[in-house]
Amino acid sequence: MNTKKVMISKEILDTLDHLSIPDEDKISFFNILINPDVSFMFSVCVKKDNILQTFKCYRVLHNSINGPYKGGFRITPDLNYEELLELSILMTLKNSLLDIPFGGAKGGIVADVKRLTESEKENLIREYAKKLSRYTDEYTDIPAPDINTDEKDMNIFFDEYSKIKGKPVYAIVTGKSPELRGINFRKLSTGYGVAYITDTVIKDFLKNKNVRIAIQGFGKVGKYTFKKLEELGYKIVAVSDSEGGIFSEEGLNFEVVKKIKDNYGSVVEVANLNKNVKILNPDDFIFVNCDVFIPAAKENVITENNAEKIRAKIIVEGANSSTTPEGEEILHKNGKIVVPDILANSGGVFVSYYEWLKGLGVMEISDQEIDNTMKEKLLKSYDKVKKIASEKNLTFRQSALFVALENLYMRAKLRKVI
Ligand code: NAD
Repeated sequence: MNTKKVMISKEILDTLDHLSIPDEDKISFFNILINPDVSFMFSVCVKKDNILQTFKCYRVLHNSINGPYKGGFRITPDLNYEELLELSILMTLKNSLLDIPFGGAKGGIVADVKRLTESEKENLIREYAKKLSRYTDEYTDIPAPDINTDEKDMNIFFDEYSKIKGKPVYAIVTGKSPELRGINFRKLSTGYGVAYITDTVIKDFLKNKNVRIAIQGFGKVGKYTFKKLEELGYKIVAVSDSEGGIFSEEGLNFEVVKKIKDNYGSVVEVANLNKNVKILNPDDFIFVNCDVFIPAAKENVITENNAEKIRAKIIVEGANSSTTPEGEEILHKNGKIVVPDILANSGGVFVSYYEWLKGLGVMEISDQEIDNTMKEKLLKSYDKVKKIASEKNLTFRQSALFVALENLYMRAKLRKVI
């Protein structure tokens, strides 16, 4: 058993000690948690630059004690199996924390989207869907958007899968267009959820009125976190994307940043058009002067090498695994609060559950209703995590894991998995 590569394994092991679980069950439960039920590793052949090329693909189905496997698929050049296993474990825990009847999964294709044409990317997704269609269905595994995949890509996945089956299978993937039984609010949901949690944690822990927020990433998560926080009256002083970051003491305006990003490809261009906005070096972005820092771009951003210099008092993980365990230890030593990914960014999968039900033809829900339901669910989970953290003297991450593992263990026992 290689536990070294799975970062979350130590945190799971530590949390299991706080749960009332018989010793003989602990090791079985731990082994179930750190290993996948099934992993697919395969390749697809697609023409790139008019030459047939091979691309490596993965789909990790971690655990289905709670329900069908659920998780995004990404397209990144440095994708690897260990990263996906870790992220699939997080999906299982996230669903368990919110008590969503889904298990955990994650997948992806090893490719650099910046070097693919639109039609090459489409062909790649079609081949990916084609291969997976041999092994899964809408009651088994339901993919969703992730890094470098969006609504359009989910429509393609749906279309290819449906073609193979000879009928529209709306529930095979979430994050689709509303015209394909998607939910309009889905694309806003993860970011809005991060914003609702951020608003609550600020009210709980920061006394000052003029709170300054920095957001790393202006993709699906970062963009809508910015939008909702601005609507809630907060000042976003800094934002970044893969090209670099920008800072304004007076605060940035969402519509301006979005328009410039859409037109010129990077948020950095805002600084070239407004002299009050400064450009930040991408490597120094996390040290920006702010009260709340929201990593919403990628994994392993806060580590033992940089955590000491972080100025924000609160860190809300918009991205998955953005803080390493060593980085988090330093943050806690310095009195910072870290709201973990499985709580902060779980709005998206919550809304996906409703999209899945809509795809199955089981229920319909309006955007306003789902926004309210999601907010209520997230804030309830936040309160529970905060209460247990205070009662048991745990960090927010340990407490969130405690709730997730307790729910999962209960179900595993009832289903006689352990
Ligand atoms: P995305 O591809 O839409 O956006 C990623 C953003 O990060 C882009 O703006 C990109 O330019 C930026 N970025 C990349 N490298 C960067 C760097 N070094 N510095 C600053 N910015 C950088 O992806 P996304 O869907 O927004 O996902 C972001 C993270 O959130 C991932 O960890 C993903 O797993 C997680 N997440 C996403 C969802 C969802 O619903 N999309 C849900 C839960 C968790």
